[in-house]
Amino acid sequence: MKFSIGSRLTLWYLAIFATAQFLFGISMWFVLRQHLYGIADATLTAQVEDLAHLLKAMKEKNRTVPKLREEVSEAYDLEHSGDFLQIYDGDENWIFRASSLQKSQLAPIAPAAVKHASFRNVQLEGKPYRFIIQRLDVNGRSFTVQTGVPIDEIIATVSVFQRDLLFLAPLLLLLAAAGGYWLSRRALSPVDAIARAARSISGDNLGARLDQLTSGDELQRLSDTLNEMLARIESAFLRVTQFTADASHELRTPIALIRTEAEISLRKSRGQEEYREALRHILLEAARTTSLMEELLSLARADSGCENLHLSVVDLNAAIAETASGWQHLIENRNLRFTYKSSDQPIPVLADRVALQRLLAIMLDNAVKYTLPPGVVELRVESRGRKAIIAVRDTGIGIAEQDQRKIFERFYRVDKARSRASGGAGIGLAIADWIIKQHSGSIAVQSSIGNGATFLVELPLQLASLPRRQMCATAVEMQPRLPLNL
Ligand code: ADP
Repeated sequence: MKFSIGSRLTLWYLAIFATAQFLFGISMWFVLRQHLYGIADATLTAQVEDLAHLLKAMKEKNRTVPKLREEVSEAYDLEHSGDFLQIYDGDENWIFRASSLQKSQLAPIAPAAVKHASFRNVQLEGKPYRFIIQRLDVNGRSFTVQTGVPIDEIIATVSVFQRDLLFLAPLLLLLAAAGGYWLSRRALSPVDAIARAARSISGDNLGARLDQLTSGDELQRLSDTLNEMLARIESAFLRVTQFTADASHELRTPIALIRTEAEISLRKSRGQEEYREALRHILLEAARTTSLMEELLSLARADSGCENLHLSVVDLNAAIAETASGWQHLIENRNLRFTYKSSDQPIPVLADRVALQRLLAIMLDNAVKYTLPPGVVELRVESRGRKAIIAVRDTGIGIAEQDQRKIFERFYRVDKARSRASGGAGIGLAIADWIIKQHSGSIAVQSSIGNGATFLVELPLQLASLPRRQMCATAVEMQPRLPLNL
C-alpha cells in the first residue's frame, strides 16, 4: 500500500512519539518506585543503626542472652520501630522477636549466612512489607537483625501512577497524531500548490510560472528551480519554434521561384533557348534550396548534439593550404584578387579537419559574395603567442557596427534582398560560430561600411610540449558549400 508523504510523516512522528513516551513512562515508573523504596530503605538502615548503638552501649555484665533480651525488650516493646523487628544470634537464641512476627514465622537466618545488608519485600498475612536483613557484630557477638516497614502505601502510589500513565498515554498519542497530521499537512501544502500549478503548464502556456514562494526554505528552492527550468524550456521551445518558422520561410522563397519559373514557361510554347534559360534558373534555385537544406540540417544536428567532431592535432598551415588553392581559382574567376599568406612554421591545433575547411569556406564565400570586383580577398594563417589565427580580409561593402554582433545569429542578414540575390540565408556565420566554439576558439569581426571586413578566428595552439589530448565534442556532418556560380 502506498502512503502519501503527509501520512508517512504522521506515522513516523507517531512512532517516534510513542517510543519516547513509552521509554519516558517506564523510566519515570522506575524512578518513582526506586525513590519510594529508597525512603523505606533509609528508614530501615537508620533503625538498624539505632539498634547497633543500643547493643554497643550495654555494660559487659549485661551481655548474656537473658540480659540482652531484657534490655532490648525494654527498649522496643513500646517503640513502633520494633513492630517488625527480630534479632537472632545464630545459636538458636532469639534476642528479640516482635509479636507480629511470631505469628507469621519470618524464618530466622544465622549471622554467618549474612554477608551484606540486603532488602527484601515480604508478604505477611497478605500485607506487603519491606525488610532489611543485616548482620551486626557487637562486643564479640554476632546477630542477624531483620526489621521491616509496611509498604502498602508505596505499592498503592506506584500502581496509581502506573494506572494514570496507562490512561494518559493513548490520549497523548491521539493528540500527537492529530498534531503530527496537522503539521505535515501545513508543511506540505505548498507542495500541493506547486503540483497543481505545474500540472496546469503545457506547451500552450509555457510562459506561466509557479507562484513565487518567500518562505526561504527547501520548498522555495524547489519552486525557484522549477521556474528556472521552465524559463530554460520556454526559451529552448521558442528557439525551436523560431527556427522552424525561419526555416520554412527561407525554403518557401526558392520553391516559389521554381514553381513560378516552371508555370510561366509552360503557359505557351517557347523556343529551345527560352526553355534552356528557364531550366537554368530552376536548376540554380534548386541548387540554392539544396544548399539551404544542408545548412538547416547542419544546424539541427548541431542543436541535437548527436554527432562527434573528430578532433586531432593538425597543422593549420597544411589543412588550410589544401583548400586555399581551390578557392584561388573560384575567387579569381570573380575578377577579385586573392592573396594567401601562411606561416613558415607548422601551427599545431586540436581540430576537426573537415570542420576547419567548412569554416574557411563560409568566411571566404562571404568575402566573395560581399566584395565587388576589382576587390581583394586575403587569407592569412599565423600563430601569435599561444593562439593560432586565421584572418579573412576583404575590401567589400563592409558591415555596420550595429550589425557586427548580430551577423552570427541564425537567419540574420544585413541586407535581406541583396543577400537573397547572392544566395545567403543568414546561416553560414551561425554554423561558423558553432564550429569555433567546439574548438574552444573565438571569432571577431573588424569592419565599417564601405571599408571591407576582416574576420579573425583564434584557436588555442596545441603546443608540442603539451600532452596529446583527445577531446570529444558534438558536431554536424560537414558538407562543402555548393559553388554559387552555376
Ligand atoms: P549569408 O549566407 O547570408 O551570407 P552569413 O551568416 O554567412 O549568411 O552572414 C550573415 C550576414 O552577415 C550576411 O547576410 C551579410 O549581410 C553579413 N556578412 C557576412 N560576411 C560579410 C562580409 N565579408 N562583408 C559584408 N557583410 C558580410
